[in-house]
Amino acid sequence: MRSDPITCDVLIAGSGAAGFATALTARLEGLDVIMVEKEPLFGGTTAYSAGVVWIPLSAQQRAAGISDSREAALEYLAYHVGNRLDRARAEAFVDNAPRMLEHFERQGFVRFSLVPTWADYHPDEPGASQGGRSLGPETFDGRRLGSSFGKLRAPIKSMMAFGGMMIGRNDLPHIFRMSRSLKAASHVGRMVAGYGRDRLTHQRGTRLVNGNALIARMAAQAFARGIPLWLSSPIVELNREHGRIVGAVVEKEGRRRTVSTRLGVVLACGGFPGNDELTRGLYAHRRAGRNHATLPPRGNAGDGLRLAQSVGGRLNDAMHQPAAWAPVSLVPQPDGSLIPFPHFYERGKPGYISVDRRGRRFVNESKSYHVYVPELIEACRDDPVIEAWIVCDHAAIRRFGLGALGPAPMPMRAFLASGYIKRADSAAALALACGIDARGLDQTLRVFNSAARGGADPEFQRGLDAYQRFNGAADHLPNPCVGPLEKPPFYAVRVVPGELGTFAGIAINAHGQVIDADGVALDGLYAVGNDAASVMGGTYPGAGITIGPAMTFGYLAARHLAAARQGRAAELARPQSAQP
Ligand SMILES: Cc1cc2nc3c(=O)[nH]c(=O)nc-3n(C[C@H](O)[C@H](O)[C@H](O)COP(=O)(O)OP(=O)(O)OC[C@H]3O[C@@H](n4cnc5c(N)ncnc54)[C@H](O)[C@@H]3O)c2cc1C
Repeated sequence: MRSDPITCDVLIAGSGAAGFATALTARLEGLDVIMVEKEPLFGGTTAYSAGVVWIPLSAQQRAAGISDSREAALEYLAYHVGNRLDRARAEAFVDNAPRMLEHFERQGFVRFSLVPTWADYHPDEPGASQGGRSLGPETFDGRRLGSSFGKLRAPIKSMMAFGGMMIGRNDLPHIFRMSRSLKAASHVGRMVAGYGRDRLTHQRGTRLVNGNALIARMAAQAFARGIPLWLSSPIVELNREHGRIVGAVVEKEGRRRTVSTRLGVVLACGGFPGNDELTRGLYAHRRAGRNHATLPPRGNAGDGLRLAQSVGGRLNDAMHQPAAWAPVSLVPQPDGSLIPFPHFYERGKPGYISVDRRGRRFVNESKSYHVYVPELIEACRDDPVIEAWIVCDHAAIRRFGLGALGPAPMPMRAFLASGYIKRADSAAALALACGIDARGLDQTLRVFNSAARGGADPEFQRGLDAYQRFNGAADHLPNPCVGPLEKPPFYAVRVVPGELGTFAGIAINAHGQVIDADGVALDGLYAVGNDAASVMGGTYPGAGITIGPAMTFGYLAARHLAAARQGRAAELARPQSAQP
């Protein structure tokens, strides 16, 4: 069957932060852009995420009076990433991320506010910041998307309250204090009332926060600027002529359509967490046949990597870690399925510890999720399953919640009934319910509690740095991260290793161009976001280190494409003017 030829300047595969950042920049440069998305919903993992970006030297940082420098940011990356740092790409990121952000804010593509006390994850390393490099997206009203709101990927169900109400980082302090402060209670009351109104007309709440707000705002801008987004339309093949990528084959409405590109194709397919073969090859614990839970959508299946490799691109897996790790619990659903929940917040607060099946602690629970998981895997190296339990007492669970269960007055009955949360009147009974060694847990609690009463953690030094304290409870003194677990009942939730996204990916240069085994750029092919190898070399220096670079390299790739157009236009003009 014949169909009309489709031609554009740039074809972008993937509708996460990287795809939209590329598309919006390219459009603003006057390029004719088409976005294609494999899934029936747009937004990718970004729509699941907190939407935080790590961007040193932002205007927001300056406005807050926080001093920082290019040298300090690069020193931190050089120290933390070590010999895995690609200096040219790191410099391109640090130099252009604040430019991208200012440009995007000016155009209304994004709106971010600084979290001034959000320290880098290794704040005592040279060049690290004690706060000021991580920014979160502002709330967005989903109704502004009109009928496209229904096509925006919803957050992970276990991360919404009442099955559809989003909770943002700025809401958390109110939620934690709602039983003790009128102001906090009225903030939460307004959220719940608004959600109730939304549910009369929508499938879920329209007050969007986190990554959902980031994607919704960018999508609204893309649609207003006439950028077509084809849903359920995966890119399946690249077309090359005379060594140049000149387009791709896209499956749309069950048909293979050739899209010809004047300038290039950008792969923004979100890496390969949904590809079992690739993750089994690259994650050591999966290679050993061990358990793992994946958070990103399954459609992120390494299509970009396969396509890049088909034309000479290569996988860069020289990473400290192949993926960004997070401990994950599995929330049973009425239909018997399990939905993953990432543990970012509660585990490092006072009144919580993490223990393995021997009842022993294995990690400083206040450190980042990316640090937690390798320690968990190591602690369970001789065990049949990689698993641990986050254990807390009654005061802690009612104040901060536990996993998918929010703080009081959120009802815990359903979580107890499904077995997601175990509860017992003594530590020994809790250990029995979880399959933890009771004597081990008892011993751990005795040792932990006796020091924790004075705010100390001699075993793992919890709460010693600014990042850990940021995650603690500011009003809990002397140590915001350490408090004993004393008053029964006690509670536990089981966690296993999971990932937020992949770090290994397509080798690219500082413009986002895919490079071959000799480091030569492939003409007309770019990879951005998690399709590209992490500029952080598989480390996690701070909050937002995947979406910050995803947007920055999207911006850089689009500008490089626009510059290529000018170069090519001049090239085309030259022979003509040279005619006698
Ligand atoms: C719960 C959670 C919280 C997180 N919080 C943060 C955070 O606050 N800050 C941060 O930096 N990182 C965070 N992350 C990680 C972050 O979400 C991802 O690293 C990032 O969103 C990846 O962006 P992307 O644009 O590369 O890919 P995605 O957002 O995943 O988008 C890729 C898109 O490409 C589509 N696609 C796949 N194959 C094809 C194909 N063949 N053709 C067309 N389209 C295709 C996919 O369907 C998907 O929609 C978090 C992750 C999770 C799970």
